[in-house]
Order: sequence, then structure tokens, then C-alpha cells
Amino acid sequence: MDRELTKERLRSLPAIDRLVAAAGCKNDLQQFPYPLLVEKIRQVVDEARQKIQQGEVVDISVPALLTDVLLKFEAAAKPSLRTVINATGVVLHTNLGRAPLSIRAKSMVEKVLTGYCNLEYNIASGERGSRYSHIVKRLCTITGAEDALVVNNNAAAVLLVLSGLAKGKEVIVSRGELVEIGGAFRVPDVLRQSGAQLIEVGTTNKTHLYDYEQAISLNTGAILKVHTSNYKIVGFTAQPDSKELSLLARRHNLPLIEDLGSGTLVPLSFGGDREPSVQESLAVGFDIVTFSGDKLMGGSQGGIIAGKAEYIGRLKKHPLLRAIRIDKLSLAALEGTLMDYQLGNPVCDVPVLNMLHRTQEELYDRAKRLADKIRPLADTGWNISINQLVSQAGGGALPTAALPSYGVAVTPGRYSAAALETQLRVRENPIIVRVQEEKVIFDVRCMTDSDLDETAKILLEISKSMDQ
Ligand SMILES: *Cc1c(COP(=O)(O)O)cnc(C)c1O
Repeated sequence: MDRELTKERLRSLPAIDRLVAAAGCKNDLQQFPYPLLVEKIRQVVDEARQKIQQGEVVDISVPALLTDVLLKFEAAAKPSLRTVINATGVVLHTNLGRAPLSIRAKSMVEKVLTGYCNLEYNIASGERGSRYSHIVKRLCTITGAEDALVVNNNAAAVLLVLSGLAKGKEVIVSRGELVEIGGAFRVPDVLRQSGAQLIEVGTTNKTHLYDYEQAISLNTGAILKVHTSNYKIVGFTAQPDSKELSLLARRHNLPLIEDLGSGTLVPLSFGGDREPSVQESLAVGFDIVTFSGDKLMGGSQGGIIAGKAEYIGRLKKHPLLRAIRIDKLSLAALEGTLMDYQLGNPVCDVPVLNMLHRTQEELYDRAKRLADKIRPLADTGWNISINQLVSQAGGGALPTAALPSYGVAVTPGRYSAAALETQLRVRENPIIVRVQEEKVIFDVRCMTDSDLDETAKILLEISKSMDQ
């Protein structure tokens, strides 16, 4: 009986031709190219057929099917990559795209985006130029390095440096620095990939200068220091003084390399945690440092290699360089960001630094602005309060710094905090929040003024629809 009914329903599915003809008379569908239209109609009919076979009740009238076709076009027109509002308080949120660009960086990207540019063209000589030339001078001026190079990201930078300077040789690393960061970047694995051999020295908590010294052999290719990124070893610990380590490397004619991870170009210290700057590392005697373009530097994705001209020169000739080269959009954004450091006041102009430096008063005022705007929700039984919060730098920087912040905590009346969190997330412009103890928390540290207004507007809308 059921099987008969299913057969009957399948037979009554309108023919493709009929749907195509009907679509041709509909204004909202006429506009699409014919082959695309036919393809979407086929998809809709196929899906309806499958649903009928699974026993679902489907409206297979021509208007209903054409509405589905229109929905398919609309879904295809929605970008997958969209902006979100970051209310998590994590400044360098890797899942949310790390560093937002500065105005200068954005305008640099826009300029090269749709036209041609002198990416690898030397305007003065009219000959082929180097893509690296656009930012090397700025990098050297800012950091004090002799030369520099930039690749796709810092992971690639580390790989290139190790492969270029120590392939087939031994690289000495402290046991306290065998780091894993997000996305399965593990120092021992990267070393293996580069063709170098890891020589671990010292212990998890203590490594001394003599540990490095005793490990040096005829086969040593480099000494590597790694920023421990997302953790800190505290208590009974020791690491050799960087100056002494650099003298040791010099005595044995070995390159001393540091993967700085985040790498800041301005001195940063918050809540007892301090990030060593790129300038400091180079000044104390590291021969090569590598760091990310989109962590504390606040630019686009990129891996910056800075240091001695002799070593950079070797890396420039490495065959791997072509495979990990940086593209013109990232390069433009990085140049714009470096200009912020040279021409402006980076703490004002570079969004990441700006957000890290927001004062308590400023953060309180922002939280109050949001709380005031959503005050009407209190009448519908929602609970709203301004709370002291702790935000994080993220991006493997300042791992133990607790950045005192402010935000708004919302308990949505009869609804659960989880339900509100979902409502905030599954929209065209999602708002990403934290949920804690049945409260939805909006940390205002990473929110712009327009984010605050938009968030208030959306909360009022959501409460209207939820309380209906
Ligand atoms: C983040 C980080 C990297 C990787 O940098 P990407 O730019 O994300 O590739 C490498 N090493 C350390 C120590 C890091 O913190």
C-alpha cells in the first residue's frame, strides 16, 4: 500500500521541462543563466525524489519546487567566509582570523587588489625586481636586522631556516622548548621535516649553558631557541643567559636561531608577563629570528625571517622558498602594518596593540554603553550586569598574562544561556561569546563601537523573537 503511494508520488513529480518552462515565466528566476537554472532544477527534483523514497511528505507542486530552486540560488549567493563580532576577549583568536588589519594595511591591500602592481618589477631600472624588496628595508630599519625575508607563515619560516641552515646536521634544542602549538606544529616534527636532526639537551625545567656546550659536535648545524608560546615553565627553572648562549654559538661558528612565535615589535608587558621583542633578540646576539605577521605584530598572515645577511642570503637561494612564498595581498598588508610602526603610533593604529592596551576606564565605558543600550531587556525578565572579566592575548603570546577587562553578562529570562549563545552564533553576522555559569558573557575588549551597537540591536531583536 505504502509502496504504491510512493510510486504514485514519484510519478506525479513534474517533468524537468515543465519546471524549466515555468521558471522562464518567473521574474526572480528568469535572470539566471539557462544551464545553471536547469542544473538547480534537477537538483531540487532529485532531492524531492529522495525524500519521497524515504517516506517524507513533500510539496511537489510546481510553485513549491520553484521556490526551492530560488532558495538554492540564494544560498549559493551567500559567502561562506564572513565577518563575526569577537566578544570572547581573546585578542589573537586563531579561529576568528587572528589580527584585524589597520586602516593603513587595509588601504594598501585595496590598492593592489584589483589592478597591477610592481610586485616583482623594479620601477627605477625597468627590470625584474624582488617581491621581498618592498618590506625588507622597513623590517631592517625597525628591527635593526642586517637583512630579512618573508614567507607564507611562521611555520614555513622555521622550516625554511632549519632546512636552509642545518639540513643533514644536528640542531640543539632545550628539552623545555619542544613545543606543540595549535594545528599540529610540533618542534621535533618540523625539525625532522627540515632534514635536520634534533639533539635534545637539559631537562624540562632546567637547561644550562654547559648542556648546550657539551652537545656541540663536528656535526652540529645550529642552536635553536623556541618561544614556549602557549605555556610557561615556572618555579625551579633555568635557561642560559641569551648573551652567553650567543657567545657560545659564535665561538663554534654556529648560527643561533630563535623562533619567537608571536614576535612583538614594541616592548610588551602585562600582568607580570613579558614578551621579548624582535629588536631585543637580535641585539642580544641571535643570528636569525622568525616570527608571525599576524600575531602581536598585528598584520596579515606571514612568516618573517630577520637577521644576519650571510644566512638570509643562503635562504634566498633555497628551492623551498618558491613553494612557501608570500602573495601580494599579504605583502601589501604587511607593508601597511610596518608603516604604522614607522610613521604612526602603533599602539593607536595597529588594532591588536590597541586592544591589548585598552585601559580599565575605557573598557568599563564600553561595557556600560552596551549594558545601557540593552537595558529594556531587564523589563522582560532578562538579567544584565556589568562584570569584571579577564581577557587573553591569545596567539601563543603572553600565555600567563591575565588582562583585566570589563564586559556585560546576560541571563536571558526564561531561556538558557546556551540557547541565546546559539541564536547569536547562527546569524548572518555571528556574535561569538563565552557562556559561563548560565550567563552569556560579552567581553568588550575586542569590540569596536559599531560592534557594540550592532550587538545591542541584535540582542533586542532576539529577545523579541524569543519572548514571543
Ligand atoms: C604561532 C607559532 C608558530 C607558527 O606561526 P604561524 O604564523 O601560525 O605559522 C611557530 N612557532 C611558535 C613558537 C609560535 O608561537
